[in-house]
Amino acid sequence: MMDPRKYKEHAEALDREDSLASFRQRFRLPHGHGAEKTYFLGNSLGLQPVAARGAVDAVLGEWEEHGVEAFFEGEDPWMKKQEQLAVLMAPIVGARPSEVSIQDALTINLHLLFSTFYKPSGRRTRILCEAKAFPSDQYMMHAQVAGHGLDPGNEIIEVGPREGEATLRHEDIINAIKTYGDELALVFFGGVNYYTGQLLDIASITRAAHEAGAIAGFDLAHAAGNMDLELHDWNVDFAAWCNYKYLNGGPGAIASLFVHETHHETSLPRPGGWWGNDAGTRFLMEKEFRPATGAAGWQVGTPPALLMATLLASLKIFDEAGWKNIQNKRGSLGAFLDEVLDDIMKRYPGEVQCLTPAATAGCQRSLFLPQFGKDVFNRLTGKGIMTDWREPGVVRVAPVPLYNTHQEIFRLYQTLEEALATLKT
Ligand SMILES: *Cc1c(COP(=O)(O)O)cnc(C)c1O
Repeated sequence: MMDPRKYKEHAEALDREDSLASFRQRFRLPHGHGAEKTYFLGNSLGLQPVAARGAVDAVLGEWEEHGVEAFFEGEDPWMKKQEQLAVLMAPIVGARPSEVSIQDALTINLHLLFSTFYKPSGRRTRILCEAKAFPSDQYMMHAQVAGHGLDPGNEIIEVGPREGEATLRHEDIINAIKTYGDELALVFFGGVNYYTGQLLDIASITRAAHEAGAIAGFDLAHAAGNMDLELHDWNVDFAAWCNYKYLNGGPGAIASLFVHETHHETSLPRPGGWWGNDAGTRFLMEKEFRPATGAAGWQVGTPPALLMATLLASLKIFDEAGWKNIQNKRGSLGAFLDEVLDDIMKRYPGEVQCLTPAATAGCQRSLFLPQFGKDVFNRLTGKGIMTDWREPGVVRVAPVPLYNTHQEIFRLYQTLEEALATLKT
């Protein structure tokens, strides 16, 4: 066990060496009672880029000045924003710009993608997914299966953690894919589990799905903007994610979807809508739908200029900071967090368990506190450290590279230590 003061000095040194330190000023940090709070909820709602307000104001000004012509006129025509966003998003998820479409909302996009990629036929009718997927994903799959006149209880196969374990074992997923083999239409997983923070091996799951003759799709709500992804190289068929968590696009931000290049030139059914029509002929208002090339062919309706503006404000920061640098800082914050959590677990055996496997963790750690969970959570909140609470006894913390510091992690350590010391006596 280290002397706690050593952790403080270590945190200060790491922050001094942090090449992204200045990016913290590009965000609005929550305040309370005159003091800056420590925000560890970038996995839930990323903070507001300072530039977001001006970006929204600019769109309002363009609307005021040009009316509908603002789609094509002014310094920053609205028609260009979707593509601009796709270009900035692509490197964050390891995609080509043509494979990314910025549109709608996450659950909506999953419905759209399932309407293309979930094609039950013959023996191949089943979906393999994780047990206790985020409820929205469960409801979506249920509706999709039922929409084909099939029984969700029979067609949706869940892989869960083993008895007494908190996270999935990779071999259990691969074995399930092999077991169900030619009954699988789709293999669909959350890239990072929202509850445990565990990253799955997307590349091998995709490979196994393809070997079984199934399509591989992922919900990347907790992975995009957090982990290093290589969607193109991994041959992922489709994916969708929201842009309000790690990507700081704002509450209810316009979302994203990914469709691999191999599906672009196919006759797969697109959802259909005038915005998914080839841009060159869209406004001819013809009877026949001609899908735009690439993921843009999955667009449906007019994208919201105001929401594109806030997301653009954030993605410009990612671009400026550089994805590699962001990943390096994520590694540094994560390693320091694991180090201090280790110390806490040694000092208070049995009181804290980290559910997130260190080897497959991104920003988030899910701490299970069987005895003092709610008390500890309340004490953190009282000290201005914002985390979140999940039944039964889980506190999720997610320091993120663009605006959190190692010293904030030290503050978390100190507060956890004090809370447990007091509660134990
Ligand atoms: C956050 C999250 C959602 C939310 O979907 P919305 O359509 O944006 O409300 C869905 N699935 C997962 C896995 C999530 O983490």
